[in-house]
Amino acid sequence: MLGKLAVYLRMCGYDTAYAGDRGVETNDAVLAIADNEGRTIVTRDQTLANRANESLLLEGLDLEDMLAELANTGIHLAPADPPTRCGRCNGPLSPESHPIDRPDYAPSDPRTPCWVCDRCHRVFWKGSHWDDVVTRLASIEEVA
Ligand SMILES: [Zn+2]
Repeated sequence: MLGKLAVYLRMCGYDTAYAGDRGVETNDAVLAIADNEGRTIVTRDQTLANRANESLLLEGLDLEDMLAELANTGIHLAPADPPTRCGRCNGPLSPESHPIDRPDYAPSDPRTPCWVCDRCHRVFWKGSHWDDVVTRLASIEEVA
């Protein structure tokens, strides 16, 4: 579930590393990366949170609860528009330069703006998933 949270944070433009993506399993390794890269650790693990220089301890079990907890700490949750970060790998996005060369999963209409990840080359656009995220985050910001 924290992996989904990572995708949401990236969609909001936050530079978000996810331990699962890095193949990191031990708390020591997570702490070392956070120190090296100046990151705040977002976790449900009390022990890990206590050992970190900067951490946010989450208690919620589902995505909605975790997003609300983040919003309550003052983190602004709204999709970056235009999108700036790849939800899959955290790489920076650039506006695509050749709308003709889109992969099969991307919209074929060249008038639909797309962005390409500089790192993994995945193509993103504001489709129905984007609208779902906008709606979900807006309802959480209202409550927080
Ligand atoms: Zn990427």
